[in-house]
Amino acid sequence: MKKEMTITYIVDGALYINVTNRCTNNCEFCIRKNGDGAYGSDSLWLEREPTEREILDSVFSHDLASFSEIVFCGYGEPSIRLDTIVTVAKRIKEKYPIRVRINTNGHSTLYHGYDTAPLYEGAFDCVSISLNTPSPERYDEICHPRVESAHAGMLAFASEVKKYVPEVILSVVKDFITADELEECHRIADSLGVYLKVRDYIS
Ligand code: SF4
Repeated sequence: MKKEMTITYIVDGALYINVTNRCTNNCEFCIRKNGDGAYGSDSLWLEREPTEREILDSVFSHDLASFSEIVFCGYGEPSIRLDTIVTVAKRIKEKYPIRVRINTNGHSTLYHGYDTAPLYEGAFDCVSISLNTPSPERYDEICHPRVESAHAGMLAFASEVKKYVPEVILSVVKDFITADELEECHRIADSLGVYLKVRDYIS
């Protein structure tokens, strides 16, 4: 029997949603370079991108009361499918009052070519953006972005989306950053008035 695509998977009491394998980066520390899944999930490589209906069916096949939050994450960059994830997030919230987060590289506006920040309002409670490094040059070296001015665009998006969602987080992977760079990341986060999350490398 053909195995079903993994559209939802559980991580630390949260329900994660996998909507695409496409990404505007090709980070050297990307979890996708080390295997097929994340945190013990089945393979997160999709044979095709799931439809809105398939995503909702997968989400509502779970008892949402048993999760701390819903997380749009990947195996890829979820904001590439912005219309779909905004609709799905709002449908979920209509049915059940649960916190919804998106883990993103912050390229939403760069990729789509218009100011996407207002669309996040009412869909996401938290936007967690991978800062990775304080340096635009270093960002290009380790993330290999496929969009122009990726680092500046990501920071501009972080500043803009803050107007529309209750919580914005910047994140860095501690194994890929020096102490001086980390200090600079804290300064950037402070200047934007957001929290900096320092996370472990997922091997
Ligand atoms: S932005 Fe995320 S999904 Fe995309 S390559 Fe980097 S780590 Fe992987």
